[in-house]
Amino acid sequence: MRKYTLVGVPGSGKSTHGARLTHDFDLVRISVGDIFRWHVRHHTKIGARVRDGMAAGRLVGDTLVEAVMRDRLEQHDWNHGFVIDGFPRNRRQAEFFLETYDIDAVIYLEISDSQVRERVLARRRCSRCGTDYSLIESRPRQEGTCDSCAGRLVARDDDTSEALTTRIQDYRRNIGPVLELLRRKAPVFVIDASGDPDTVQAEIRTRLGLASPPAPGEGSTGRADS
Ligand SMILES: [Zn+2]
Repeated sequence: MRKYTLVGVPGSGKSTHGARLTHDFDLVRISVGDIFRWHVRHHTKIGARVRDGMAAGRLVGDTLVEAVMRDRLEQHDWNHGFVIDGFPRNRRQAEFFLETYDIDAVIYLEISDSQVRERVLARRRCSRCGTDYSLIESRPRQEGTCDSCAGRLVARDDDTSEALTTRIQDYRRNIGPVLELLRRKAPVFVIDASGDPDTVQAEIRTRLGLASPPAPGEGSTGRADS
C-alpha cells in the first residue's frame, strides 16, 4: 500500500504529477478540488455551499473540506494506495488529517513566485466540463474552446495578478506549519518542481523509491519478488 499526499503552491504541478503516479502505479487519485467541482456540476448541497463560497471570493471552509475528505477516504476503493492532491492546506486541516489517517510520504512541489505567476496566469478551464488547459503546456486545439465538449474556456476569477499575490502569501504562510506537523508522521520530500514535468516526475519517483513503473500487465498483481 502506498499512501501519499502532494502539496504545493498553485501552479506547481500537483494534478499533473498526481495523475502520472496514479496511472503508473495503479493508485487512486483524491483531489479535493475535483470533488468540489463534481458537486458543483451535479448541483448537490455541497456544490451549492462551494459555489456560494467561491462567489464571495473565499476558499472553501475547513469544515466542508474535512467532511468531504472523510467521506472520500471512507470509501476505501483503493487496492494499492492513493495520492491526495492539495490537502491539507493549513494547520487545522493537517491536524484533522493526522488524527484520522496514516500516510507514507508527503511530496512538496516547490517553485518560485515568478513561476507561479507565469503558470497560473496561463491556466484556463472549461466552463462546461471542467477540463483544465494551460496556454503554455496544453493548449486547446481551437483557441478558447474545450477539445472534449466545445465549452468556453475561462480563467478562474481569482487567477488575476493581484489576487495571486495574496494567494501565494497565504499559501506560503500556511504551508510551513502544515509540513512541520506532517513531518511527525511521514517523511516530507521537497522537490524542485521548476523543471520540465518528466524531470520532476523522475525525481519524485526516486525520492519515493518508485524508480521504475511496473511493467505492462504487472500493474495489478503487486510487486514482483526481489
Ligand atoms: Zn469541456
